[in-house]
Amino acid sequence: MNTIVIKIGTSSLTNSETGNLALSTISSLIETIINLRQQGHRVVLVSSGAVGVGCDLLGLTEKPRNISIKQAVAAVGQGRLMRVYDDLFSSLKQTIAQILLTRSDLSRRSSYVNAHNTFQQLLQLGVVPIVNENDTTAVEELKFGDNDTLSALVARLVEADWLFILTDVDKLYSADPRNNPDALPITLVERIEQLQELEVQTGESVSGRGTGGMITKIEAAKIATTAGVRTVITDGKIPTNIEKILNGESIGTQFEPQAQQVNARKHWIANVLVPAGKLYLDQGAVKAISESGKSLLAAGITQVEGEFNSSDAVQLCNEEGEEIARGLVNYSNAELQKILGCRSENIPDILGYAGAETVVHRDNLLITN
Ligand code: GLU
Repeated sequence: MNTIVIKIGTSSLTNSETGNLALSTISSLIETIINLRQQGHRVVLVSSGAVGVGCDLLGLTEKPRNISIKQAVAAVGQGRLMRVYDDLFSSLKQTIAQILLTRSDLSRRSSYVNAHNTFQQLLQLGVVPIVNENDTTAVEELKFGDNDTLSALVARLVEADWLFILTDVDKLYSADPRNNPDALPITLVERIEQLQELEVQTGESVSGRGTGGMITKIEAAKIATTAGVRTVITDGKIPTNIEKILNGESIGTQFEPQAQQVNARKHWIANVLVPAGKLYLDQGAVKAISESGKSLLAAGITQVEGEFNSSDAVQLCNEEGEEIARGLVNYSNAELQKILGCRSENIPDILGYAGAETVVHRDNLLITN
């Protein structure tokens, strides 16, 4: 028995010309999910489409750019989307549930754990949870923005074995196959770094209604595979391929779970929390952190950017400003301005109180690059 997360995007759910729901694709997806359930698998569906369906209902031909209009449109579309799912699933006697998440929900450790428990209960009850971002209330700066990222975080949350990202291309290519006949298909990615070596072209989605391009899908694969989830990018118009892939057929692009898996807490720090600031480190500190797995001390910091409090997430960057790690900081930006470059034993004198020995403790730090 596997736990399987399937993500379907607006470009697969709707007809790109008319904007109508692609009912045959949706039905085929639902039949596939029912088959998987009958084989004993637990299935979570991450479905976009709230904005797309909302536009269709309101007669809008283009996705609105204005955030409050988009939020209103999503509120219209989400209800209809769930009704379509409920009609089809219930005609095959499968109970579903709606889960709308925001990044803020997952950023608080207590609500993260709560969401985890709710998913577990639903899956134990034999329900298929259908997840979307809560577009209507999500704050712009804290949005996942695309459901690719959301699906990878949900895969981690439910401890999935598989994540299927259904999209408008059949697999990953070394260049865009729509305008480059020499584009080579990529069927297996053992390490994410392989893609940089191949210089894979990661253009944006061509359909006007979808959100993420290939970049967000690869990022999602990275998040999921470092959490031990096998990830597949495959054609959204042929959901029946999911069963074939589970039976070992080589369809789509498959990403192997990464050998070095990140523990749950560090994964959460690096992928769920939005960094509130940036710490620039000198070469010695970069080396100590990335090569020797050390904690970050005030002495290694050269510059501080952003406004944050202790316990917020921050980016740790090299002198050029490129991110090398993320972590939870033990001091606010105002405190760090006073102690950057200083030796730890001098901190109590400078601040007038004894703070933490480290600025970012290695237990709260994850190398990202
Ligand atoms: N949450 C958005 C929606 O349901 C979609 C985001 C995405 O397409 O990735 O319309």
